[in-house]
Amino acid sequence: MTLLRSIPAIDQLLNDDQSQTMINQEGVPFDSLKSVFQEVTSDIRSTILNNQAPSSWNEGNLYEVTLSYAFKLLEARQRKALQSVINATGTIIHTNLGRSRLADTAANRVTEVAKSYSTLEYDLTTGRRGSRHDLVEERIKTLIGAEAAIVVNNNAAAVFLVLSALAQGEEVIVSRGELVEIGGSFRVSEIMEESGAILHEVGTTNKTHLSDYQKAICEETKMIMKVHQSNFYMEGFTASVNRQELKPLTTQHGVVLYEDLGSGLLYNLSENGISDEPTVQEVIAYGVDLVSFSVDKLLGGPQAGIIAGKKDYIEQIRSHSLNRVLRVDKMTYAALDETLRLFEAGSYEEIPTLEAVLKKDEQIKQSVQSFINRLPVLENINVSIEQTTAQVGGGTLPEVTLPSHSLVMTFDEAKAEHVTELLRLNQPAIIARVENEKVYFDFRTIDSNEHDSIILAISKIDQLI
Ligand SMILES: *Cc1c(COP(=O)(O)O)cnc(C)c1O
Repeated sequence: MTLLRSIPAIDQLLNDDQSQTMINQEGVPFDSLKSVFQEVTSDIRSTILNNQAPSSWNEGNLYEVTLSYAFKLLEARQRKALQSVINATGTIIHTNLGRSRLADTAANRVTEVAKSYSTLEYDLTTGRRGSRHDLVEERIKTLIGAEAAIVVNNNAAAVFLVLSALAQGEEVIVSRGELVEIGGSFRVSEIMEESGAILHEVGTTNKTHLSDYQKAICEETKMIMKVHQSNFYMEGFTASVNRQELKPLTTQHGVVLYEDLGSGLLYNLSENGISDEPTVQEVIAYGVDLVSFSVDKLLGGPQAGIIAGKKDYIEQIRSHSLNRVLRVDKMTYAALDETLRLFEAGSYEEIPTLEAVLKKDEQIKQSVQSFINRLPVLENINVSIEQTTAQVGGGTLPEVTLPSHSLVMTFDEAKAEHVTELLRLNQPAIIARVENEKVYFDFRTIDSNEHDSIILAISKIDQLI
Protein backbone atom coordinates (compact mmCIF):
# COMPACT_ATOMS: atom_id res chain seq x y z
CA MET A 1 0.00 0.00 0.00
CA THR A 2 3.00 2.30 -0.07
CA LEU A 3 2.12 2.64 -3.75
CA LEU A 4 -1.01 4.56 -2.73
CA ARG A 5 1.13 7.16 -1.05
CA SER A 6 3.12 7.62 -4.28
CA ILE A 7 0.09 8.82 -6.27
CA PRO A 8 1.04 12.40 -7.10
CA ALA A 9 -1.01 15.34 -5.82
CA ILE A 10 -3.08 17.29 -8.37
CA ASP A 11 -1.12 20.49 -7.66
CA GLN A 12 2.15 18.73 -8.24
CA LEU A 13 0.91 17.46 -11.61
CA LEU A 14 -0.39 20.89 -12.58
CA ASN A 15 2.95 22.45 -11.74
CA ASP A 16 4.89 19.99 -13.86
CA ASP A 17 6.86 21.67 -16.66
CA GLN A 18 4.92 19.78 -19.33
CA SER A 19 1.58 20.86 -17.83
CA GLN A 20 2.74 24.46 -17.62
CA THR A 21 3.80 24.41 -21.28
CA MET A 22 0.40 23.03 -22.26
CA ILE A 23 -1.46 25.67 -20.29
CA ASN A 24 0.72 28.65 -21.16
CA GLN A 25 1.78 27.89 -24.71
CA GLU A 26 -0.60 25.36 -26.22
CA GLY A 27 -3.84 26.89 -25.00
CA VAL A 28 -5.03 23.83 -23.06
CA PRO A 29 -7.60 25.12 -20.54
CA PHE A 30 -6.41 24.82 -16.92
CA ASP A 31 -9.73 23.28 -15.87
CA SER A 32 -9.59 20.55 -18.54
CA LEU A 33 -6.13 19.52 -17.43
CA LYS A 34 -7.14 19.59 -13.78
CA SER A 35 -10.21 17.42 -14.32
CA VAL A 36 -8.19 14.92 -16.36
CA PHE A 37 -5.63 14.68 -13.51
CA GLN A 38 -8.43 14.17 -10.99
CA GLU A 39 -9.98 11.45 -13.07
CA VAL A 40 -6.71 9.61 -13.70
CA THR A 41 -5.45 9.75 -10.10
CA SER A 42 -8.78 8.48 -8.89
CA ASP A 43 -8.67 5.60 -11.42
CA ILE A 44 -5.14 4.72 -10.38
CA ARG A 45 -6.17 4.76 -6.72
CA SER A 46 -9.01 2.31 -7.28
CA THR A 47 -6.82 0.10 -9.48
CA ILE A 48 -4.32 -0.18 -6.62
CA LEU A 49 -7.03 -0.73 -4.00
CA ASN A 50 -8.50 -3.54 -6.11
CA ASN A 51 -5.06 -5.15 -6.31
CA GLN A 52 -5.05 -4.75 -10.08
CA ALA A 53 -1.98 -2.55 -10.38
CA PRO A 54 0.38 -3.87 -13.09
CA SER A 55 3.69 -5.13 -11.71
CA SER A 56 5.51 -2.48 -13.72
CA TRP A 57 4.12 0.27 -11.44
CA ASN A 58 6.38 1.22 -8.55
CA GLU A 59 6.99 4.10 -6.17
CA GLY A 60 9.69 5.42 -8.45
CA ASN A 61 7.65 5.64 -11.65
CA LEU A 62 4.05 6.26 -10.55
CA TYR A 63 4.44 9.99 -11.14
CA GLU A 64 5.46 9.44 -14.78
CA VAL A 65 2.79 6.76 -15.26
CA THR A 66 0.09 9.15 -14.03
CA LEU A 67 1.27 11.98 -16.27
CA SER A 68 1.43 9.79 -19.33
CA TYR A 69 -2.07 8.34 -18.75
CA ALA A 70 -3.45 11.82 -18.24
CA PHE A 71 -1.88 13.26 -21.38
CA LYS A 72 -3.19 10.37 -23.47
CA LEU A 73 -6.69 10.87 -22.10
CA LEU A 74 -6.46 14.61 -22.74
CA GLU A 75 -5.37 14.02 -26.32
CA ALA A 76 -8.30 11.69 -26.92
CA ARG A 77 -10.68 14.26 -25.38
CA GLN A 78 -9.37 17.04 -27.59
CA ARG A 79 -9.55 15.06 -30.81
CA LYS A 80 -12.35 16.24 -33.06
CA ALA A 81 -15.35 13.94 -32.95
CA LEU A 82 -15.79 14.05 -36.69
CA GLN A 83 -12.49 14.09 -38.58
CA SER A 84 -11.70 14.01 -42.25
CA VAL A 85 -9.90 10.83 -43.31
CA ILE A 86 -8.15 9.51 -46.40
CA ASN A 87 -10.07 6.58 -47.86
CA ALA A 88 -7.54 4.09 -49.25
CA THR A 89 -9.98 1.15 -49.16
CA GLY A 90 -11.01 1.21 -52.81
CA THR A 91 -14.69 1.37 -51.83
CA ILE A 92 -15.95 4.61 -53.34
CA ILE A 93 -19.28 5.14 -51.56
CA HIS A 94 -18.07 3.96 -48.14
CA THR A 95 -21.00 4.20 -45.75
CA ASN A 96 -18.81 4.19 -42.61
CA LEU A 97 -16.61 6.92 -44.06
CA GLY A 98 -19.45 9.29 -44.89
CA ARG A 99 -20.43 8.09 -48.39
CA SER A 100 -19.95 10.78 -51.04
CA ARG A 101 -17.50 13.66 -50.89
CA LEU A 102 -18.88 16.95 -52.14
CA ALA A 103 -17.55 18.72 -55.21
CA ASP A 104 -15.36 21.73 -54.35
CA THR A 105 -17.95 24.20 -55.60
CA ALA A 106 -20.69 22.44 -53.62
CA ALA A 107 -18.61 22.59 -50.42
CA ASN A 108 -17.99 26.30 -51.07
CA ARG A 109 -21.71 26.94 -51.43
CA VAL A 110 -22.28 25.22 -48.06
CA THR A 111 -19.74 27.48 -46.36
CA GLU A 112 -21.24 30.56 -47.98
CA VAL A 113 -24.79 29.79 -46.93
CA ALA A 114 -23.76 28.57 -43.45
CA LYS A 115 -22.04 31.87 -42.63
CA SER A 116 -24.72 34.24 -43.84
CA TYR A 117 -28.46 34.77 -43.91
CA SER A 118 -30.02 33.26 -46.99
CA THR A 119 -33.18 33.02 -49.08
CA LEU A 120 -34.09 29.70 -47.45
CA GLU A 121 -37.73 30.71 -47.10
CA TYR A 122 -37.76 34.15 -48.65
CA ASP A 123 -38.81 35.29 -52.11
CA LEU A 124 -36.62 38.17 -53.30
CA THR A 125 -39.03 39.27 -56.06
CA THR A 126 -42.06 39.72 -53.82
CA GLY A 127 -40.28 40.37 -50.54
CA ARG A 128 -42.56 37.78 -48.98
CA ARG A 129 -42.24 34.38 -47.40
CA GLY A 130 -41.05 31.69 -49.79
CA SER A 131 -40.86 27.92 -49.46
CA ARG A 132 -37.69 25.89 -49.06
CA HIS A 133 -39.40 23.18 -51.11
CA ASP A 134 -39.23 25.37 -54.21
CA LEU A 135 -35.46 25.88 -54.01
CA VAL A 136 -34.27 22.93 -56.07
CA GLU A 137 -37.53 21.56 -57.45
CA GLU A 138 -37.09 23.12 -60.90
CA ARG A 139 -33.60 21.68 -61.32
CA ILE A 140 -34.75 18.20 -60.31
CA LYS A 141 -37.78 18.38 -62.62
CA THR A 142 -35.68 19.45 -65.59
CA LEU A 143 -32.93 16.91 -64.96
CA ILE A 144 -35.14 13.85 -64.59
CA GLY A 145 -38.27 14.89 -66.48
CA ALA A 146 -40.65 14.64 -63.52
CA GLU A 147 -43.75 16.79 -62.89
CA ALA A 148 -42.79 17.58 -59.31
CA ALA A 149 -40.24 16.73 -56.62
CA ILE A 150 -39.47 17.16 -52.95
CA VAL A 151 -36.33 16.75 -50.83
CA VAL A 152 -36.20 15.04 -47.42
CA ASN A 153 -33.55 13.94 -44.93
CA ASN A 154 -32.52 10.70 -46.68
CA ASN A 155 -34.01 7.97 -48.81
CA ALA A 156 -35.19 6.00 -45.78
CA ALA A 157 -37.20 9.09 -44.80
CA ALA A 158 -38.45 9.34 -48.38
CA VAL A 159 -39.81 5.77 -48.32
CA PHE A 160 -41.43 6.34 -44.92
CA LEU A 161 -43.03 9.60 -46.06
CA VAL A 162 -44.36 8.19 -49.34
CA LEU A 163 -45.98 5.25 -47.55
CA SER A 164 -47.33 7.35 -44.67
CA ALA A 165 -48.78 10.04 -46.91
CA LEU A 166 -50.26 7.80 -49.60
CA ALA A 167 -50.85 4.34 -48.16
CA GLN A 168 -51.59 4.58 -44.44
CA GLY A 169 -54.08 1.84 -43.56
CA GLU A 170 -54.08 0.62 -47.17
CA GLU A 171 -52.58 -2.29 -49.03
CA VAL A 172 -49.24 -2.11 -50.77
CA ILE A 173 -48.09 -5.01 -52.96
CA VAL A 174 -44.38 -5.88 -52.83
CA SER A 175 -42.50 -8.84 -54.30
CA ARG A 176 -40.88 -11.15 -51.71
CA GLY A 177 -37.67 -10.86 -53.75
CA GLU A 178 -37.58 -7.15 -52.93
CA LEU A 179 -38.17 -7.23 -49.16
CA VAL A 180 -34.54 -6.35 -48.54
CA GLU A 181 -32.58 -5.10 -45.58
CA ILE A 182 -30.35 -2.20 -46.56
CA GLY A 183 -28.10 -2.14 -43.49
CA GLY A 184 -28.19 0.24 -40.56
CA SER A 185 -31.53 -1.38 -39.59
CA PHE A 186 -33.52 -0.33 -42.64
CA ARG A 187 -35.86 -3.17 -43.54
CA VAL A 188 -38.53 -2.58 -46.15
CA SER A 189 -41.03 -4.76 -44.27
CA GLU A 190 -40.48 -2.93 -40.98
CA ILE A 191 -40.59 0.58 -42.40
CA MET A 192 -43.89 -0.32 -44.10
CA GLU A 193 -45.34 -1.55 -40.85
CA GLU A 194 -44.26 1.61 -39.05
CA SER A 195 -45.76 3.81 -41.75
CA GLY A 196 -49.14 2.13 -41.23
CA ALA A 197 -49.25 0.65 -44.74
CA ILE A 198 -50.43 -2.95 -45.02
CA LEU A 199 -47.86 -5.16 -46.69
CA HIS A 200 -49.18 -7.63 -49.24
CA GLU A 201 -46.31 -9.92 -50.24
CA VAL A 202 -46.36 -11.71 -53.58
CA GLY A 203 -44.10 -14.23 -55.32
CA THR A 204 -41.14 -16.03 -53.79
CA THR A 205 -37.62 -14.98 -52.87
CA ASN A 206 -36.19 -15.85 -56.27
CA LYS A 207 -39.19 -15.62 -58.59
CA THR A 208 -42.11 -13.25 -58.95
CA HIS A 209 -44.31 -13.21 -62.07
CA LEU A 210 -46.75 -10.67 -63.46
CA SER A 211 -49.55 -13.14 -62.67
CA ASP A 212 -48.64 -12.92 -58.97
CA TYR A 213 -49.34 -9.17 -59.05
CA GLN A 214 -52.49 -9.71 -61.17
CA LYS A 215 -53.91 -12.18 -58.65
CA ALA A 216 -53.11 -9.95 -55.68
CA ILE A 217 -54.45 -6.65 -56.96
CA CYS A 218 -57.94 -5.82 -55.65
CA GLU A 219 -60.23 -3.09 -54.30
CA GLU A 220 -58.05 -2.56 -51.24
CA THR A 221 -54.82 -2.14 -53.20
CA LYS A 222 -53.47 1.39 -53.04
CA MET A 223 -49.97 0.93 -54.41
CA ILE A 224 -47.49 -1.42 -56.03
CA MET A 225 -44.03 -0.74 -54.68
CA LYS A 226 -40.81 -1.89 -56.28
CA VAL A 227 -37.61 -1.85 -54.26
CA HIS A 228 -34.11 -1.90 -55.69
CA GLN A 229 -32.23 -4.92 -54.33
CA SER A 230 -29.23 -2.63 -53.83
CA ASN A 231 -26.77 -4.64 -51.79
CA PHE A 232 -27.20 -8.09 -53.25
CA TYR A 233 -27.37 -9.67 -56.63
CA MET A 234 -29.23 -12.88 -57.47
CA GLU A 235 -27.95 -15.22 -60.09
CA GLY A 236 -29.44 -18.44 -61.43
CA PHE A 237 -33.12 -19.39 -61.38
CA THR A 238 -34.67 -15.95 -60.93
CA ALA A 239 -37.51 -13.86 -62.33
CA SER A 240 -38.86 -10.45 -61.50
CA VAL A 241 -41.40 -8.17 -63.11
CA ASN A 242 -40.12 -4.92 -64.53
CA ARG A 243 -41.76 -1.53 -64.47
CA GLN A 244 -42.86 -1.66 -68.13
CA GLU A 245 -44.97 -4.75 -67.39
CA LEU A 246 -46.39 -3.34 -64.17
CA LYS A 247 -47.40 0.03 -65.59
CA PRO A 248 -50.48 -1.18 -67.59
CA LEU A 249 -51.66 -3.12 -64.52
CA THR A 250 -51.44 -0.14 -62.16
CA THR A 251 -53.06 2.16 -64.73
CA GLN A 252 -55.93 -0.28 -65.26
CA HIS A 253 -56.63 -0.52 -61.51
CA GLY A 254 -55.88 3.11 -60.70
CA VAL A 255 -53.16 2.29 -58.15
CA VAL A 256 -49.87 4.09 -57.56
CA LEU A 257 -46.69 2.61 -59.04
CA TYR A 258 -43.84 3.62 -56.72
CA GLU A 259 -40.21 2.62 -57.07
CA ASP A 260 -37.54 2.95 -54.37
CA LEU A 261 -34.49 3.21 -56.62
CA GLY A 262 -31.92 3.22 -53.83
CA SER A 263 -29.16 5.10 -55.56
CA GLY A 264 -30.29 7.87 -57.86
CA LEU A 265 -28.34 7.43 -61.05
CA LEU A 266 -28.45 10.60 -63.15
CA TYR A 267 -25.50 9.67 -65.34
CA ASN A 268 -25.79 6.86 -67.86
CA LEU A 269 -23.09 4.39 -66.79
CA SER A 270 -23.97 1.93 -69.57
CA GLU A 271 -22.24 4.21 -72.07
CA ASN A 272 -19.00 3.50 -70.21
CA GLY A 273 -19.74 -0.21 -70.06
CA ILE A 274 -19.82 -0.09 -66.25
CA SER A 275 -23.42 -1.05 -65.51
CA ASP A 276 -26.78 -1.25 -67.30
CA GLU A 277 -28.60 0.18 -64.27
CA PRO A 278 -31.32 2.54 -65.60
CA THR A 279 -31.07 6.25 -64.87
CA VAL A 280 -33.78 8.05 -62.91
CA GLN A 281 -34.74 9.81 -66.17
CA GLU A 282 -35.38 6.44 -67.84
CA VAL A 283 -37.49 5.15 -64.95
CA ILE A 284 -39.66 8.30 -64.99
CA ALA A 285 -40.00 8.02 -68.77
CA TYR A 286 -41.46 4.50 -68.37
CA GLY A 287 -44.35 6.15 -66.58
CA VAL A 288 -43.57 5.13 -62.98
CA ASP A 289 -45.75 7.44 -60.83
CA LEU A 290 -43.27 8.07 -58.03
CA VAL A 291 -39.61 7.34 -57.43
CA SER A 292 -37.35 7.98 -54.47
CA PHE A 293 -33.58 7.81 -54.20
CA SER A 294 -30.56 8.79 -52.09
CA VAL A 295 -28.59 11.94 -52.81
CA ASP A 296 -25.27 10.82 -51.27
CA LYS A 297 -24.86 7.58 -53.22
CA LEU A 298 -24.20 7.73 -56.99
CA LEU A 299 -25.57 11.25 -57.20
CA GLY A 300 -22.52 12.37 -55.22
CA GLY A 301 -24.28 15.01 -53.12
CA PRO A 302 -25.02 15.62 -49.43
CA GLN A 303 -27.11 13.27 -47.27
CA ALA A 304 -30.70 13.65 -48.48
CA GLY A 305 -33.48 11.80 -50.27
CA ILE A 306 -35.47 12.91 -53.30
CA ILE A 307 -39.07 11.98 -54.04
CA ALA A 308 -40.15 12.77 -57.60
CA GLY A 309 -43.05 12.02 -59.91
CA LYS A 310 -46.71 12.92 -60.49
CA LYS A 311 -47.75 16.33 -59.21
CA ASP A 312 -50.89 15.15 -57.39
CA TYR A 313 -48.98 12.65 -55.31
CA ILE A 314 -46.13 15.07 -54.53
CA GLU A 315 -48.76 17.61 -53.40
CA GLN A 316 -50.23 15.08 -50.96
CA ILE A 317 -46.76 14.26 -49.66
CA ARG A 318 -45.87 17.92 -49.37
CA SER A 319 -48.87 18.71 -47.21
CA HIS A 320 -48.38 15.72 -44.86
CA SER A 321 -47.26 16.75 -41.37
CA LEU A 322 -44.29 14.34 -41.45
CA ASN A 323 -42.81 16.44 -44.23
CA ARG A 324 -42.04 19.11 -41.61
CA VAL A 325 -40.32 16.49 -39.45
CA LEU A 326 -38.15 15.16 -42.27
CA ARG A 327 -37.15 18.44 -43.94
CA VAL A 328 -33.51 19.32 -44.68
CA ASP A 329 -31.51 22.39 -43.73
CA LYS A 330 -30.02 25.23 -45.78
CA MET A 331 -26.58 23.63 -46.01
CA THR A 332 -28.05 20.53 -47.60
CA TYR A 333 -30.00 22.63 -50.11
CA ALA A 334 -26.85 24.59 -50.98
CA ALA A 335 -24.82 21.44 -51.61
CA LEU A 336 -27.65 19.73 -53.49
CA ASP A 337 -28.38 22.74 -55.70
CA GLU A 338 -24.73 23.00 -56.71
CA THR A 339 -24.37 19.24 -57.32
CA LEU A 340 -27.44 19.29 -59.56
CA ARG A 341 -26.05 22.34 -61.38
CA LEU A 342 -22.90 20.34 -62.16
CA PHE A 343 -25.06 17.59 -63.69
CA GLU A 344 -26.94 20.21 -65.74
CA ALA A 345 -23.64 21.63 -66.98
CA GLY A 346 -22.34 18.15 -67.80
CA SER A 347 -19.39 18.69 -65.44
CA TYR A 348 -19.47 15.10 -64.21
CA GLU A 349 -15.75 14.85 -63.51
CA GLU A 350 -16.09 17.60 -60.88
CA ILE A 351 -18.31 15.33 -58.78
CA PRO A 352 -15.83 13.20 -56.78
CA THR A 353 -18.02 10.07 -56.57
CA LEU A 354 -18.61 9.98 -60.33
CA GLU A 355 -15.02 10.90 -61.06
CA ALA A 356 -13.84 7.94 -58.98
CA VAL A 357 -16.27 5.57 -60.72
CA LEU A 358 -15.31 6.75 -64.21
CA LYS A 359 -11.54 6.98 -63.65
CA LYS A 360 -9.56 4.81 -66.08
CA ASP A 361 -7.41 2.04 -64.62
CA GLU A 362 -4.41 3.15 -66.69
CA GLN A 363 -4.59 6.57 -65.04
CA ILE A 364 -4.73 4.98 -61.57
CA LYS A 365 -1.71 2.81 -62.37
CA GLN A 366 0.29 5.88 -63.44
CA SER A 367 -0.75 7.67 -60.29
CA VAL A 368 0.59 4.82 -58.08
CA GLN A 369 3.83 4.72 -60.08
CA SER A 370 4.50 8.43 -59.77
CA PHE A 371 3.65 8.18 -56.06
CA ILE A 372 6.23 5.41 -55.57
CA ASN A 373 8.83 7.50 -57.38
CA ARG A 374 8.28 10.30 -54.91
CA LEU A 375 8.73 8.11 -51.80
CA PRO A 376 11.99 8.57 -49.86
CA VAL A 377 14.25 5.55 -49.21
CA LEU A 378 12.48 3.38 -46.61
CA GLU A 379 14.27 1.15 -44.11
CA ASN A 380 11.53 -1.11 -42.78
CA ILE A 381 8.88 -1.04 -45.48
CA ASN A 382 8.99 -2.61 -48.94
CA VAL A 383 6.65 -1.10 -51.52
CA SER A 384 5.32 -2.41 -54.80
CA ILE A 385 2.37 -1.96 -57.13
CA GLU A 386 -0.42 -4.53 -57.61
CA GLN A 387 -3.51 -4.84 -59.77
CA THR A 388 -6.54 -4.81 -57.43
CA THR A 389 -10.32 -4.60 -57.59
CA ALA A 390 -12.24 -1.59 -56.35
CA GLN A 391 -15.99 -1.31 -55.84
CA VAL A 392 -18.69 1.33 -55.97
CA GLY A 393 -20.06 0.42 -52.51
CA GLY A 394 -22.83 2.01 -50.47
CA GLY A 395 -25.21 -0.79 -51.43
CA THR A 396 -25.09 0.25 -55.08
CA LEU A 397 -24.17 -1.84 -58.11
CA PRO A 398 -23.14 -4.96 -56.12
CA GLU A 399 -22.46 -6.86 -59.36
CA VAL A 400 -19.97 -4.25 -60.60
CA THR A 401 -16.24 -4.45 -59.92
CA LEU A 402 -13.85 -1.76 -61.05
CA PRO A 403 -10.27 -2.57 -62.11
CA SER A 404 -7.77 -0.65 -60.03
CA HIS A 405 -4.17 -0.48 -58.82
CA SER A 406 -2.80 -0.33 -55.30
CA LEU A 407 0.38 0.61 -53.55
CA VAL A 408 1.28 -2.45 -51.47
CA MET A 409 3.46 -2.39 -48.36
CA THR A 410 5.14 -5.53 -47.04
CA PHE A 411 7.38 -6.03 -43.99
CA ASP A 412 10.05 -8.46 -42.92
CA GLU A 413 7.99 -9.41 -39.85
CA ALA A 414 4.24 -9.53 -39.19
CA LYS A 415 3.52 -5.85 -38.79
CA ALA A 416 0.57 -5.16 -41.07
CA GLU A 417 -2.03 -4.76 -38.28
CA HIS A 418 0.28 -2.48 -36.31
CA VAL A 419 0.93 -0.35 -39.39
CA THR A 420 -2.78 0.07 -40.18
CA GLU A 421 -3.30 1.17 -36.59
CA LEU A 422 -0.56 3.79 -36.94
CA LEU A 423 -2.16 4.90 -40.20
CA ARG A 424 -5.50 5.34 -38.43
CA LEU A 425 -3.85 7.40 -35.69
CA ASN A 426 -2.09 9.60 -38.24
CA GLN A 427 -3.36 13.15 -38.81
CA PRO A 428 -5.14 12.96 -41.19
CA ALA A 429 -6.18 9.36 -40.50
CA ILE A 430 -5.59 6.98 -43.41
CA ILE A 431 -7.88 3.96 -43.75
CA ALA A 432 -6.07 1.17 -45.59
CA ARG A 433 -6.85 -2.50 -46.20
CA VAL A 434 -4.92 -5.54 -44.86
CA GLU A 435 -4.75 -8.84 -46.65
CA ASN A 436 -2.22 -11.65 -46.13
CA GLU A 437 0.05 -9.48 -43.99
CA LYS A 438 0.17 -6.84 -46.73
CA VAL A 439 -1.17 -3.28 -46.45
CA TYR A 440 -3.05 -2.02 -49.54
CA PHE A 441 -3.68 1.59 -50.58
CA ASP A 442 -6.17 1.45 -53.45
CA PHE A 443 -5.61 4.56 -55.55
CA ARG A 444 -9.09 4.62 -57.07
CA THR A 445 -10.33 6.36 -53.92
CA ILE A 446 -7.22 8.49 -53.32
CA ASP A 447 -6.98 12.04 -54.65
CA SER A 448 -3.68 13.44 -55.93
CA ASN A 449 -3.94 16.25 -53.37
CA GLU A 450 -3.76 13.57 -50.65
CA HIS A 451 -0.43 12.15 -51.86
CA ASP A 452 1.76 14.48 -49.76
CA SER A 453 -0.01 13.50 -46.51
CA ILE A 454 0.37 9.81 -47.29
CA ILE A 455 4.06 10.14 -48.13
CA LEU A 456 4.64 11.93 -44.83
CA ALA A 457 2.73 9.27 -42.91
CA ILE A 458 4.63 6.40 -44.53
CA SER A 459 8.00 8.04 -43.83
CA LYS A 460 7.04 8.57 -40.19
CA ILE A 461 5.75 5.04 -39.73
CA ASP A 462 8.91 3.63 -41.33
CA GLN A 463 10.81 5.08 -38.35
CA LEU A 464 8.34 3.79 -35.77
CA ILE A 465 8.20 0.11 -36.67
C1 LIG B 1 -29.67 3.02 -49.65
C2 LIG B 1 -31.08 2.64 -49.79
C3 LIG B 1 -32.05 3.15 -48.94
C4 LIG B 1 -31.71 4.07 -47.81
O1 LIG B 1 -31.27 5.30 -48.30
P1 LIG B 1 -30.59 6.36 -47.29
O2 LIG B 1 -30.37 7.57 -48.14
O3 LIG B 1 -29.36 5.73 -46.79
O4 LIG B 1 -31.57 6.60 -46.21
C5 LIG B 1 -33.36 2.77 -49.13
N1 LIG B 1 -33.70 1.93 -50.12
C6 LIG B 1 -32.79 1.41 -50.96
C7 LIG B 1 -33.24 0.46 -52.01
C8 LIG B 1 -31.44 1.75 -50.84
O5 LIG B 1 -30.53 1.23 -51.66
